[in-house]
Amino acid sequence: AAAREPVLVCENVSRWFQGVHALKHVSVSIGKGEIFGLVGPNGSGKTTLVNAITGFYPPQEGRILFEGRQISGLKPYRIAESGIARTFQNVALFRGMSVLDNILMGRHIFMRPNPLASLFYWWWAQREEIAHRRKVEEVIDLLQLESVRDEHVDVIPLGLQKRVELARALCAEPRMLVLDEPMAGMNQEEKEYMVRFILDAQEALGLTVLIIEHHMDVVTAICERVLVLNNGSRIAEGPAREAISDPQVVEAYIGK
Ligand code: ADP
Repeated sequence: AAAREPVLVCENVSRWFQGVHALKHVSVSIGKGEIFGLVGPNGSGKTTLVNAITGFYPPQEGRILFEGRQISGLKPYRIAESGIARTFQNVALFRGMSVLDNILMGRHIFMRPNPLASLFYWWWAQREEIAHRRKVEEVIDLLQLESVRDEHVDVIPLGLQKRVELARALCAEPRMLVLDEPMAGMNQEEKEYMVRFILDAQEALGLTVLIIEHHMDVVTAICERVLVLNNGSRIAEGPAREAISDPQVVEAYIGK
């Protein structure tokens, strides 16, 4: 891990919500190609850190760098364009739409006005369409969503809905993927599938992954290193197995 080039760096990041100090001077460095876990009891600040990274609730202190460029202070869509895609804790799909259309939505960051597009509209639209379709097909294939591509997202099981969210995030061609509890509410089989797909995607696309995860079996199975938060502060960091068996971490979980 020490040899990895840093991709995402948080320096002294703090965030308050109406006087609640949700994140306290958190610093962390995530290496290129790493699967990095973010763990800690409920309310410890995990989602707040993810929201700071992705720009939804920017840090009020400290700064965040992605590939050496400061991203803290940028709007969420700018951060997404810079190469970071995320999924949400609660499934956030477009209801009433098909799996395919939901995945296609992941391409929206590429769908921006271009002056050339109006001049060569037909040619441009075709070229764009081909690029979108190619990527969508690649992701459907990678995550094995072929058999449900035309289903409405409302009628497929939760495990598949979560997979569609992952597919949508991958369609944005990110270099870093941020997953907020991708296995929440899943049964054992669905969890195992999701672990496989995250590993496959990471390997096939060379991604760096930051994952909030409650299931410690999943954490030790896929995370190289983890950061453990408690009450907004870092209480441990390091190789997954060591960090989660740290006495302070065990204590924090029992105390809840
Ligand atoms: P975790 O993800 O570890 O469960 P959170 O980051 O969601 O923890 O929450 C950390 C603290 O920050 C909690 O006290 C929570 O109530 C507070 N908090 C997080 N987001 C908001 C928000 N948008 N508005 C108000 N308080 C928030």
